[in-house]
Amino acid sequence: MVSFENELKYWTMERVEALIAGCTSTDVERAVSRPDRSVEDLAALLSPCASSLLEPMAREAQRLTRWHFGRTVGLYAPIYVSNVCGADCAYCNYAVRTGGGQKRVTLNEVQIRQECAALAARGFQQVLLLTGEAPGKASVAYLAEAVSVAREYFASVSVEIYALDGEGYERLVERGLEGVSLYMETYDRETYAQVHRAGEKMNYAYRLEGIERAGRAGVRRLSLGVLLGLFDWRVDAFWLALHARHVQKACWQSAVSISFPRLRNTPEGFQALAPVGDRALVQMMLALRLFLPQAGFNLSTREGAGFRDHLLPLGVTMMSAGSSTRPGGYSLDGGETLDQFAVEDCRSVAEVADSIRGAGYDPVWKDFDRAFVEDVAVIGGKGRT
Ligand code: SF4
Repeated sequence: MVSFENELKYWTMERVEALIAGCTSTDVERAVSRPDRSVEDLAALLSPCASSLLEPMAREAQRLTRWHFGRTVGLYAPIYVSNVCGADCAYCNYAVRTGGGQKRVTLNEVQIRQECAALAARGFQQVLLLTGEAPGKASVAYLAEAVSVAREYFASVSVEIYALDGEGYERLVERGLEGVSLYMETYDRETYAQVHRAGEKMNYAYRLEGIERAGRAGVRRLSLGVLLGLFDWRVDAFWLALHARHVQKACWQSAVSISFPRLRNTPEGFQALAPVGDRALVQMMLALRLFLPQAGFNLSTREGAGFRDHLLPLGVTMMSAGSSTRPGGYSLDGGETLDQFAVEDCRSVAEVADSIRGAGYDPVWKDFDRAFVEDVAVIGGKGRT
């Protein structure tokens, strides 16, 4: 199978821009009505012509989402286990050169347990453990232990951490890891080099291949995304959609999902390079739903309550709720520690669940049995292609 890096070499920015610019309203209408969609259809759905056809796109997106996922929305919560980071990403509060004098901590086992217990008491069964890029503080051994502890409390544990090698992911899978979120942030190499100014994350190719390494190591849920606001959203969304489709084929035993983080409150001295408005985010989500009908869509509390409610029926399948973006934010006196970004949807878990019910959907705390994950970890760990 051709590597995705090679696929990207064909889909240069100029080629993608030209394809999108050449699309007409007729191309968009044809793309909406097709049962299977080509890359040309994807370009049409991301094009400026599609912005006046969001309603038919939304109807089709809703139909596809209900067909593949029913009327359910999974709920999860992030647990920041460390805010120590040696990387310097211009857009992030955790960057080594940002964050001022605010406290950097890495939770110990007892503290991780306290955070897990606090979230389990709120009903969560799915969590995402997060760290910065600090292998010295949050090593693979530390992360494996954190996954193991979290599995005592939750049916599903995922991580959003620095890119690991295949062996690193295997060690986490052995301890019960189910999911990996690894966002490329932007697929544009020039912008990528501009905003990633120190650390391993500067290695574009290593990060690009990370999600496939995780899939080959037996990770069952793989989540991709771009950080909206770094580059032209139409072009980045096109590359993201191609990457997701590539990973669906390369790691066919894993479920692929897309996240839609949007830069809102940026660190001092950094402005979004290509701001993305609400309507653009809606169009991107609809275009990707039509192109990738079976991909889960995750929406975090970076977006405000009203907008999250509005997006819910358009393809969202997982939402975080009641989130804290600082270590110790649920159970410890973590008020002094540095948070990664400001949460926009500050509703309680119960309020988010009520809102999901009010829209005619069922909030789901867990959608499979623990035993199933254990089986997958056993049979999926080695020899995957
Ligand atoms: S995005 Fe991740 S790697 Fe970059 S500074 Fe923030 S925590 Fe560190």
